[in-house]
Amino acid sequence: MSLLIGDNQVVSIHYTLTNEAGQVIDSSQDQDPLTYLHGAQNIIPGLEKALVGKVVGDKLQVVVQPNEGYGEIDPRMVQNVDIAAFQGIDQVEVGMIFEAQAQDGSTQRIMIKALEGDQVTIDANHPLAGVVLHFDVEITHIREATKEEIAHGHVH
Ligand code: ZN
Repeated sequence: MSLLIGDNQVVSIHYTLTNEAGQVIDSSQDQDPLTYLHGAQNIIPGLEKALVGKVVGDKLQVVVQPNEGYGEIDPRMVQNVDIAAFQGIDQVEVGMIFEAQAQDGSTQRIMIKALEGDQVTIDANHPLAGVVLHFDVEITHIREATKEEIAHGHVH
């Protein structure tokens, strides 16, 4: 009997993530596989859903739309701020990424999208928001999670 992927299983996968143009965005090749707790929202919903019922050795290709990936681009996350907000930074340049504290206390990545005079356009969308994700996945290991892992919602 092989374990099937389902809630409260600790699953290890090797994966390669590409965008629609076939460019590699992220990959576990040459690294340890990604190990996550299934059913605990450790990975994006579209990928988690596609892995249900799979067994070790299964290989699959999964296409995840933004609404089940990193979300759609939210225009409200793009704002203009005065360059004075970047006090202490020698040179503010397009493409720079900063970390900021969101209102809920979580860390938010903010990218400088444009610069015009004293106005800086910042974008707090996830870098993969709006991107259709193509995953190539191989399942390498499945085990039952411990009680502690289930209680914590992550793998130990
Ligand atoms: Zn823990």
